[in-house]
Amino acid sequence: MAAPDLTSYDLLAPQLSGGKDSAVMMAVFMEAARASGVDDRVISYHSSLGVLEWPPVVFGGIRYPGVSKLAALQSAAFGVPAARHLEVTRTMPGPDGTRMPHSLLTEIAAYGRFPRMGSPYCRKSAKESVVSSAWTPIVNRLKRELGRPVRILKVMGLRSDDGPDRKKRAAFRTVQANSARIVDEWLPVKDWSTGAVKEWHADAPVPYCWTYDSVLGAGDWSGTSRCSCSLCVFAARTDVLLSIGRRPRLADLYAEVEQARGDSFHGLAYHRPDPACRAVRCARPRRRLPGRRPGVHRPRGAGTAGPEEGATQGTRTGTPRPSRTAGGVEPCVRPVRPQGATAEASRPGAPPAVLRPPRDR
Ligand code: SF4
Repeated sequence: MAAPDLTSYDLLAPQLSGGKDSAVMMAVFMEAARASGVDDRVISYHSSLGVLEWPPVVFGGIRYPGVSKLAALQSAAFGVPAARHLEVTRTMPGPDGTRMPHSLLTEIAAYGRFPRMGSPYCRKSAKESVVSSAWTPIVNRLKRELGRPVRILKVMGLRSDDGPDRKKRAAFRTVQANSARIVDEWLPVKDWSTGAVKEWHADAPVPYCWTYDSVLGAGDWSGTSRCSCSLCVFAARTDVLLSIGRRPRLADLYAEVEQARGDSFHGLAYHRPDPACRAVRCARPRRRLPGRRPGVHRPRGAGTAGPEEGATQGTRTGTPRPSRTAGGVEPCVRPVRPQGATAEASRPGAPPAVLRPPRDR
């Protein structure tokens, strides 16, 4: 479909997961924004999944960025100033009153059930509602100035090839309309095939995530087919097995939640109760998948223990079930600034505040 009238929006808000589709989307979208002369209205967002994200890895003396860094690189590569790329995440009050990150796995542990077909609450809870909440300061300010609801265009890299639900989703639709904001959603690369996306990446100005390859730097696209949560309830079984091989300690945390809550991470997602698919068993697959090697192991005690610790605290402390809406859990907004960037957002009204330091993965 043709681009919507971008000049009719007060805020243009691409959402970058850091995956391969986000990069293509950003290229297509920014070309349209520049053609319309409104690229100065763009603020890009990355909703950080914390410890669940694919982290940076050093392999063969080369550092491969994690998805948070990739999202920032994708934004910068297509002309968005660093101060207008924001990383947001969920937080909740900690024991001492300060706000602490609230990861999706913590929420699952406290809630007691994994997301599944028919109840994919993770997408909204970990991503959409967090970004939507981060718009609130802009909406409040612009609504006062404009005297009308603020018009926002949310731009995403979802594609029809990703599954039947994505195929059914309209390339353009209004997703929210109230007295404060009107939010439209645009999927500019909805009709791109997976092959076309991979072909585009051959000459892309940004790298793609290491997990797409069988071995880091191989360039063969024979790793995981997706790159968001390292362990996704909706991923294919082959992806799940490979992810468990690459992030065994994270898999152990999922297994802990499964055992504590009596719910299956993956089997029930397909409405096929399958005890063999439980993470606790998958963590020790008896045979390797043909053509897919784990490639990277992150052994116990090697660097990532910090953030993974505490991710399942809901099972340990009996944390009450949180609201699955953003209402009770405020987002943390963190501008991602490469070296040399200024501290001031260049667009008036950009959400301020550095609320937490970068997390050590
Ligand atoms: S990557 Fe999978 S588990 Fe993570 S938020 Fe998206 S759908 Fe949910």
